[in-house]
Amino acid sequence: MRSNLKKITEAGLTLVVVSVFVLCYYVAKDINTVVSDNAAVAVSSASSTLPEILLDAGHGGFDGGCVGVGGELEKDINLSITKSLYYLCEIFGYETRATRLKDIAINDSGIEGIYDMKQSDMKNRLEFFKSSDNAVCISIHQNQFTDEKYSGAQMFFSNKNPLNERLATQIQQSIVSLTQKENTREIKHADDMFLLTTENPSVMVECGFLSNSEECKKLSDKGYQKKMAVSVFLGLNKFVRENYSA
Ligand SMILES: [Zn+2]
Repeated sequence: MRSNLKKITEAGLTLVVVSVFVLCYYVAKDINTVVSDNAAVAVSSASSTLPEILLDAGHGGFDGGCVGVGGELEKDINLSITKSLYYLCEIFGYETRATRLKDIAINDSGIEGIYDMKQSDMKNRLEFFKSSDNAVCISIHQNQFTDEKYSGAQMFFSNKNPLNERLATQIQQSIVSLTQKENTREIKHADDMFLLTTENPSVMVECGFLSNSEECKKLSDKGYQKKMAVSVFLGLNKFVRENYSA
């Protein structure tokens, strides 16, 4: 993953510029308390007690995930948001790893058949989330429903770790306050989600609905994807600040 990071340094620099712009924008919009709260964390992030950040860009490779109203693939949007989030975590001093920073599935080699490849892929993603004793795990996805009217990000969490609800709450609030002010969705229990059975604090971030044409258009926009990544990061950062000693 580190070599991947070097290859895309240029994209990382672009993100820094965009992130600074976005942060300045929000300060100007008089939510500077949110930003300054989070900015303070960067200073204190040298403590070894701080968690590693494990990121999962949902789907990839043979598995496109859900499909937008214009043919957009969920896997591509997940990857774009996750890469921006990855850079932000690194920039702010977190040890960060990701399941993928390019368009691949992570199933074991030598497995044939879509069903078995998917099972292997999911098993490996869960193993990844379990690969550290002190991590916060975030899986990035896009939602879809048969009725086009539904929209808005929603966080899913399990009861496996008592901190999960706080993590989901912080990210949900951050996305709503910074990016989706009209969003009235509430965080949701999902104990049956395979990926959330890690004992590390974890959350599945459904950024919005690709089945809603207006939201699909936004989620396909590079600028909006970066804004979403900044929103997720600020919620994550606040969660860490409030629940880990620096
Ligand atoms: Zn998905």
